[in-house]
Amino acid sequence: MLELRREELTARIRDPAGNFEETELHFEIRTDPLSGHTSRLLPGTKLLPESTFDLAELAKETRRACPFCGERIESATPKLPEDLAPRGRIQVGEAVLFPNLLPYSEYSSVSVYSPDRRFLKLREISPRLIADNLSAQIEFARVVMRHDPGARWVSINANYLPPSGSSVFHPHLQGSVNRSPTTMQRLLVAAGADRYRGYLDAERASGERLVADTGNVTWLASFASIGPAEMRAFVPAVASPVELDSAVVEELSAGIAAVLACYADLGFESFNLAVYGAPPSAKGYPLNLRMICRSNLGTPYRSDATWLERLHWEGATDLVPEEVAVCARPHFESR
Ligand SMILES: [Zn+2]
Repeated sequence: MLELRREELTARIRDPAGNFEETELHFEIRTDPLSGHTSRLLPGTKLLPESTFDLAELAKETRRACPFCGERIESATPKLPEDLAPRGRIQVGEAVLFPNLLPYSEYSSVSVYSPDRRFLKLREISPRLIADNLSAQIEFARVVMRHDPGARWVSINANYLPPSGSSVFHPHLQGSVNRSPTTMQRLLVAAGADRYRGYLDAERASGERLVADTGNVTWLASFASIGPAEMRAFVPAVASPVELDSAVVEELSAGIAAVLACYADLGFESFNLAVYGAPPSAKGYPLNLRMICRSNLGTPYRSDATWLERLHWEGATDLVPEEVAVCARPHFESR
């Protein structure tokens, strides 16, 4: 069985709070079994303060110029090229998808959960809203692949609120379909089938970070978090989002909503999400999903990403993965 590598370390200081007596400080370095990145766990440090920010007020202030709101979306957002989608946009339930004005890839999309829902707290992003929005993204990726079979790398992503990198307040997802993978897509595919099997076996045997097996999807608190409260999901036998059937989309969406409810319990409001597709029918690759919390808005504002995350590709968090799993489990059981 694959070994989950963790190293417990100490640093010595003479503590100003304890009359400068020498004392030991404890931390841990863990290695992610899939990408090989390492992560520093600094429990008890309370790196990220609770929100003091009035999000409802920010929603109101930015409403007048919002291109994604119901009264403007039709005139202010771009349309897909005629040969891709004659109607220009893709609609599923309340979700509306259109191309991104700032393309990050050859086929780059934005999809709002609903033009009429400009402000959603984490608990209000329901499984229905998520499933319809994911379905719009999946439809977009299928349309692109029919048109350009070389564009095989699909990802579905979310920035939520400014700390996550979102430039528009109105809640939305972003899709990317490209001929080449992102760095992380490449690393996750390179991990290979044995490593995935070993990782999931080790986590099931330990049980400490296993959150739920919901049928087709396994949810874990990440062993070596790359960001605050990282959660991971794996969908075996599905390599690309375009291969997800509607039942699994519903299942995945219920899980995402459960994680968001856990994030709200932990006192967070902002998050990132990525669904990392490999080329369809890539052998032995389970579709990967990862979610992390981001700092709360506030004055002064402290980013959760430091020199470690940005320049060393190294996680550093005070949120213990085993405790994040304890927070998340009840939200899966209640669904
Ligand atoms: Zn809006």
